[in-house]
Amino acid sequence: MFGLPRMMFTEEHELFRQSVRDFIAKEITPFNDEWEKNKMVSRESWLKLGENGFLGIQAPEDLGGMNIQDFRYNAILIEELGLSGCSGPAIGYPLHSDIVMPYILHYATDEAKKKYIPKMITGEYIGAVAMTEPGAGSDLQGMRTSAEDKGDHYLINGSKTFITNGYLSDVVVVAVKTDPSKGAKGISLMLIDRDMAGFSKGKPFEKVGLHAQDTCELFFEEVKVPKENLLGKEGDGFKYLMTELAQERLVVALAAVALGEYMLEETVNYVKERKAFNKSLSEFQNTRFKLAEMTAALEQGRIYCDQLVMLHNEKKLDPAMASAAKYNMTELQCKVADECVQLHGGYGYMWEYGVARAYADARVQRIYAGTNEIMKELIARKILK
Ligand SMILES: Cc1cc2nc3c(=O)[nH]c(=O)nc-3n(C[C@H](O)[C@H](O)[C@H](O)COP(=O)(O)OP(=O)(O)OC[C@H]3O[C@@H](n4cnc5c(N)ncnc54)[C@H](O)[C@@H]3O)c2cc1C
Repeated sequence: MFGLPRMMFTEEHELFRQSVRDFIAKEITPFNDEWEKNKMVSRESWLKLGENGFLGIQAPEDLGGMNIQDFRYNAILIEELGLSGCSGPAIGYPLHSDIVMPYILHYATDEAKKKYIPKMITGEYIGAVAMTEPGAGSDLQGMRTSAEDKGDHYLINGSKTFITNGYLSDVVVVAVKTDPSKGAKGISLMLIDRDMAGFSKGKPFEKVGLHAQDTCELFFEEVKVPKENLLGKEGDGFKYLMTELAQERLVVALAAVALGEYMLEETVNYVKERKAFNKSLSEFQNTRFKLAEMTAALEQGRIYCDQLVMLHNEKKLDPAMASAAKYNMTELQCKVADECVQLHGGYGYMWEYGVARAYADARVQRIYAGTNEIMKELIARKILK
């Protein structure tokens, strides 16, 4: 359906893509309905991803990774998960590898890396990142979870909400206030382990979409966190977040295009089959034009994202560019979702149809990883500098 060649992929990338696609068809798609009912993917699926080498491919070999510093491979995984239409897995697995692991790889002590990275690569440990609090989402500086310096450890008190992979999480990168008087400079990041006393989790939320995602609250009551679990330097947490969020936003943009393509393909198949007024829906000019518009927009989005992946490989993707990608592609995904539901008629509103789920799943993409209003702020900041 898509005509433009993907110039950035080599034969090796395509072989990798095929292995990912085969894995998804066997180990993910058949289980997605069950996972949606359970409000989470299975732990076993994480182990299978690990066995097949699909977690943390960028990690160094001495920590169990493959040392692949080529984000095209990560992009292929994100894309193939998106194309499968299994949105819960498409968000949760990349969050672990491409969003949580970089914090540990870039800022953790050697001991912490040795403790967590190998287990995150095998899928024995599932990662999450916890910034949002009931009273602090867009305005992260308003967070209240505190970390009191007690000499050889910090004492953590507070809570986080809406945490992706939260319920199954074994290690969480948590943003805390080490000095409430210093605003952004009083924020630090630390690793909190499932086994630490005083750390507990809420039940997975009842969400509008992403039903296979175990999004939940996390609670910290007098949790003793050893000093080795501090990421980087005390007070530099906000800086690290701003650095790493660029990759997070690129990941969301990549997933958005792929999920858009999934919906379009479902819709193309549907309109060819469905008849009205003795015609196939695909014969109505409105249907043809809507499909053409979506194809043109998604194709443009795909090539734009390819360009950003290559820029990211060269370490030239700045926060404003990543924000623009997240904003652009998630708005497109939601527009495509709405049009695809419309072209399905009433069936587009039935949960058993892929587009109905994809429609519900799409909406949050404009909210998390920084709302699209915040994305526009970040873009405006750069152009008005
Ligand atoms: C399913 C799901 C998964 C999530 N996963 C995670 C996760 O893994 N880790 C994590 O830390 N968080 C996660 N989040 C939280 C998410 O990042 C926040 O919900 C988001 O940042 C918005 O914060 P908020 O909900 O407090 O909304 P608010 O910040 O209260 O925003 C409400 C509205 O006000 C607007 N607004 C706020 N400030 C401004 C401004 N300065 N200018 C213009 N408009 C503004 C917003 O754009 C929005 O429209 C998740 C959320 C959901 C729903």
